[in-house]
Amino acid sequence: MRRRSFGVLCAAMCCGVASAQPLAGATVEMRVEQVGPHSYFVQGQSAQGSAENQNFISNAGFVVTEDSVVVIDALGSPPLAERLLGEIRRITPKPVSHVLLTHYHADHIYGLQVFKAAGAQIIAQRHGQDYLVSETAQRRLEASRQDLFPWIDEHTRLVPADRWLDGDAALRIGGTEFRLRAVGPAHTPEDMVVLVPGERVLFAGDLVFRGRIPFVGQADSRHWIAALDQLLGFDARVMVPGHGPASQQPVEDIRLTRDYLQHLRRTMGEAARNLEPFDEAYARTDWSRFEMLPLFAAANRMNAYNTYLLMEHERD
Ligand SMILES: [Zn+2]
Repeated sequence: MRRRSFGVLCAAMCCGVASAQPLAGATVEMRVEQVGPHSYFVQGQSAQGSAENQNFISNAGFVVTEDSVVVIDALGSPPLAERLLGEIRRITPKPVSHVLLTHYHADHIYGLQVFKAAGAQIIAQRHGQDYLVSETAQRRLEASRQDLFPWIDEHTRLVPADRWLDGDAALRIGGTEFRLRAVGPAHTPEDMVVLVPGERVLFAGDLVFRGRIPFVGQADSRHWIAALDQLLGFDARVMVPGHGPASQQPVEDIRLTRDYLQHLRRTMGEAARNLEPFDEAYARTDWSRFEMLPLFAAANRMNAYNTYLLMEHERD
């Protein structure tokens, strides 16, 4: 009897990613790092989402209060969220009472249903609602069910917040103060950063990309730069970004993202003003300060192009 069940377990494990059956749990390496007396986070890989990396490409944080655990962002799939719950369980038996969402991008929200089922209240900025009901969100989910199978499948769904905020808020949960700041539109309209003043820990979402080139997309880079300037005033000791390692030198890292955005706007803005074709402008621009960063090859040209279009538009 014993030998037989061992054999079944072995067969299940050996099937791995190639199996067409839904897997029991994410197997990707996940390590909890402590960044404050009660603050922790897990760090996703610096890569684009794939079935191979199980879409573990974004960070999630958590803070253990006197009564419960507050999670910041939900990771990129339900199995990853289950894994995170398991890691939290190794630190504390307290329930997860809240999930604070920095923004509604796929790699930060596909794990939400796990925390919802565990009884957590989800809190986000109201602009996230627009994305949730958009065709883009639906199409993205359908594409992810193909590209990220079996981690994202037909059971993965988009989960709305239980409480939509219309701006800044201060919460006291289990004796711990959380300052929620609405800083959009920057990376997205619904951007929110979370400051735990008692520990001077800042969860910055995708406003600050650390150790990699940001994904700029359709972002409003002018407001984004203004938001980064606001973050510089928070006097954080540690910053946990949405991607990449935690920073013990938040000021330098916030400045790097800000400088990259300013560089894009300055160079592409000048090209757009001079009606210089994008390809020529891109080719003659000096990228040397940023080209050593991960994902430069994957993201920079698209970032520059989007900024070029944005600057053409801002000119009107
Ligand atoms: Zn994002």
